[in-house]
Amino acid sequence: MHELSLSSAILDTATRHARGRRVTAVAVRIGALRQVVPRTLEFYFGFVTRGSVCEGAALELVVVPARLACDACALEWELAAPGFRCPRCQTAEVRICSGDELLVESIEVIDEPAPPVTWQLAPLVEPRAAPPPRAANDAQEVDACTAPG
Ligand SMILES: [Zn+2]
Repeated sequence: MHELSLSSAILDTATRHARGRRVTAVAVRIGALRQVVPRTLEFYFGFVTRGSVCEGAALELVVVPARLACDACALEWELAAPGFRCPRCQTAEVRICSGDELLVESIEVIDEPAPPVTWQLAPLVEPRAAPPPRAANDAQEVDACTAPG
């Protein structure tokens, strides 16, 4: 479930920045290339936030259009249908300008006398990325109890 893992990532980021305060709204920018179904993401967000400081928070989604740029002629255009060739000069040497983002832009919290603060947060970890390799003897050390002396 693509949207489920994205919801968890959004919840983690919002919870971290709320520092125990109740979150009433979370604004998220998401690239069109991630092919997220907004209603599905909202559904899973409501599910994963149960019992958290984000429970009941509004999820404000902004879908960022995918834009491509041609390295040969510098044309920049919005990707309407799948296709990675420059519509002007037909070369395939193009790069993605936008459309792959996932960014929790801001959260709104209550329980503070100050007005809502807007944070500019770093992009979330790419959910498709493989976990970093780890040493084989790392695996069991989590449970080790080392008493000094
Ligand atoms: Zn071109």
